[in-house]
Amino acid sequence: MNKKQALKIYRDQNEKIAAYGLMLATAGFDRMTIAPIGGASYRNRMLSIIQGELFELETDKDYVQAILTLSEMDLGEVGNRDISLAKKSLEDVLKFTKEETMEYSYALMNAYDAWYKAKTSENYEIFRPHLMKLIEMTKYRAKKRDAKKDPYDLLLDDFEEGMNRKKYDEFFSLIRKELLPLIRKIDKKKGYIDDSFLYKYYPAEKQALFMKDAMKYLGFSSDWGYMGTTEHPFTSGFSKNDVRVTTNYDEHNVTAAIYSLIHECGHAFYEHQVDAKYEKYPHIRNMSSGMHESQSRFFENYLGRRRSFFVKLYPRLQELFPENLGNVSLDDFIKAANVSKCSLIRTDADELTYPVHILIRYELEKEIFSGKADLDKLDQLWDEKYEKYLGIKAQKPSDGILQDVHWSEAYIGYFPTYALGSAIGAQLFHKMKEDLDVDALLEKGQFKKITDYLHKNVQHDGALYTFEQIVKRATGEDFDPHYYIDYLKEKYKALYNIK
Ligand code: ZN
Repeated sequence: MNKKQALKIYRDQNEKIAAYGLMLATAGFDRMTIAPIGGASYRNRMLSIIQGELFELETDKDYVQAILTLSEMDLGEVGNRDISLAKKSLEDVLKFTKEETMEYSYALMNAYDAWYKAKTSENYEIFRPHLMKLIEMTKYRAKKRDAKKDPYDLLLDDFEEGMNRKKYDEFFSLIRKELLPLIRKIDKKKGYIDDSFLYKYYPAEKQALFMKDAMKYLGFSSDWGYMGTTEHPFTSGFSKNDVRVTTNYDEHNVTAAIYSLIHECGHAFYEHQVDAKYEKYPHIRNMSSGMHESQSRFFENYLGRRRSFFVKLYPRLQELFPENLGNVSLDDFIKAANVSKCSLIRTDADELTYPVHILIRYELEKEIFSGKADLDKLDQLWDEKYEKYLGIKAQKPSDGILQDVHWSEAYIGYFPTYALGSAIGAQLFHKMKEDLDVDALLEKGQFKKITDYLHKNVQHDGALYTFEQIVKRATGEDFDPHYYIDYLKEKYKALYNIK
């Protein structure tokens, strides 16, 4: 097989694989947004058959040969990176049989449905056997992929290339040392900032009207994006110009949906702003979780929690909810939106306590893999960690172990990327403030200048580089979590008037 033949086989087969991928992603979006739960068993069986067909395409003899051939050749920077990622993913796929792949995908879909039922009925027992099975399968699969490597390290690297327990341990020990004392101090000042008005009654239909304006402000266009609702908000990027975001309304917490939507829009812009020329390189379009979270949390926190972000938007919110916000000034609204308190739900957490929610999950995952955790008591271990670090305990499983969808999808090793992404975002934001007058742009509603900046400096090359390389290229410096720590300490000390 020469280079030309190999490239043709590689590209043609990638198109077919992408077609199946698109079908599965579309069906996945449908499952998680509008499909009735009654059809789950039939639906999951059918989808696992398609997963089996996809496996046939991915392990096709000529395709495998083409990848191996190309991986020995020089294809230029983009081609080399794409092929090396293709080879890595191929090696993983080849470790399993078609039956194993179908069984795994079927188990994942059933686990998601069980999680949904368990969460909505406050019954962890519905989900427990599925979770145990997934943990077992995840361990088995990690061992089979690379018997020599520590399985949890392998998973951490899956979600963020180059990361492992050693690096995360250092990162989280910084969080523990630098942020926990401040969190304790602020906890003693409970009630210092009044945020009670955020938790009045805010009907979902009216919140949805505000979202339309917020999306417009962000420049999220229906030409390339769509918004739906779901139990656990997420973003699906089917292609550059077909990106779906979802949200979930809480009628007694007006900022919950706003911030979750801004967050998902951050993901959406990343998917949308990778250059069109990479459409032919599936692995360049497959951005890492940490980088993705750096962009979503950039939108949500570094931009969305600033006063300037709401200068244009707040009058609309007041107009929609005059009885709740009519007498609340923009300054008081923003202070309330930044209140720090030890709470149970990760997605509603303020910026300061957020990484502690991640620390808890990281410790649990490490203990699951080291064998230290008694898996029968995982739900209790969860609650104990919350008590230890944040001083509070869930009264119902939907506030505890059932709150997040991730484990039901075998996203184990994913959580740490949220905290890492926040830290990457802080460093990128620090640089952006040197280059742009961010507040002036936000106040004037010139959000496009900000998304253009992110496109140019961070997003356009997709996964051509690792997160460490992207940070270096965008800021001129190596990744340094102290930007994150300094940002949080400075912000919250000022907010709470702490020396
Ligand atoms: Zn996210």
